[in-house]
Amino acid sequence: MAWLPFLHGSSDRFSADKFERELKAISTKILKNERKSIRYKRQFKQWRASILFYISILYTVLVAYEVIFVSHGRQMYIHLVGIPIGVLLCDLLYKKIFNIMMKRIEANLVDLRTQHQEKIENLKDLSNFNETTSLLKRFTDGEDLEALEKEQAEAARKQQEYFKLLETPPPVLSGAATSSLRPSSVFEPIMKLLLGEDEMSPNNRYALICTLCHQNNGLAPPGEVPKEVKYICIHCGYLNAPEKDQFPDVDSTDNDTKRIGDQVQLGISKIGDERRKEKNKET
Ligand SMILES: [Zn+2]
Repeated sequence: MAWLPFLHGSSDRFSADKFERELKAISTKILKNERKSIRYKRQFKQWRASILFYISILYTVLVAYEVIFVSHGRQMYIHLVGIPIGVLLCDLLYKKIFNIMMKRIEANLVDLRTQHQEKIENLKDLSNFNETTSLLKRFTDGEDLEALEKEQAEAARKQQEYFKLLETPPPVLSGAATSSLRPSSVFEPIMKLLLGEDEMSPNNRYALICTLCHQNNGLAPPGEVPKEVKYICIHCGYLNAPEKDQFPDVDSTDNDTKRIGDQVQLGISKIGDERRKEKNKET
């Protein structure tokens, strides 16, 4: 079983040796039938030619004998006409029998070839043939290296974007800027003057960018800057905490550590669930 190494020990239900035996048996039958078909065709032609040849000789001799030595009676005419008709009928019968035999062999061959094809397809399914081939193709053609390079370039680009974001000063959104983005009414400036800026507006809130994976995690609560917000990244599960929380006081250490630990655990298990779901979807 050197040609099916990937099947060894992979499954108890599938016996590679048995499979090979079955496949071999089918192939042998196909080969036998093909040879039989060729042999029969050749024999049919040879036998027919020989039989017709000898019958023609016998017929000629018989006719000559009757013409020379026997009186020109009714019997001679019966022989003259009857023998060729008899030979023709025998020939037709011979052809008919031969055709029936050949049809049987052909039908058997079609059946065996179908069985063979089904076996091969079955083997492909069991061995994940298509996936293995595409994997091999990827790794031998260097496609995986290209993909890796792209991935790294993308990560670098994201990092650059993040640094740029950190360098730019936080936008101070005045009334003018806001009004340019939203359709405003005549009363809006008066309302702003009376009630102050709308803190709930997305224009006045900061985006929470994870410091580990640089993914967006929505908006910070109104009036708070990202540095002061403590949250767990929904993408990678990293705990983004304000600097003061990263070096907590001795007093609050125990409780906080436990709480943060729980949150991280929760975040990680969430990520794990999401990955599992994605995997299931893919499969
Ligand atoms: Zn993250």
